Amino acid sequence: MDQNPVSSHFHIQWNDFVCLDWQCFTTRDAAMIRAKELARPDEEFTIVEVSGKCAPGRQKASSAS
Ligand SMILES: [Zn+2]
Repeated sequence: MDQNPVSSHFHIQWNDFVCLDWQCFTTRDAAMIRAKELARPDEEFTIVEVSGKCAPGRQKASSAS
C-alpha cells in the first residue's frame, strides 16, 4: 500500500488545492479509483503524472496525529 516509487507515477491534483495530494500511485487507474473514493460530490480533481522522484505537496507533511 505504502509505495515510494522513484520512477514515473501518478498523483491526485485536487482543484481546490495548489499542491498535489501526498499519496503516490503507480498507475493512473489506481489514482482515479482512490480520487473517486475521496472526492466530495462537487469536488473536482485531475490525475497528474510525476516523472522521477516524488515531490509531494505539503498536505499531511506534518500530521498531528
Ligand atoms: Zn509521488
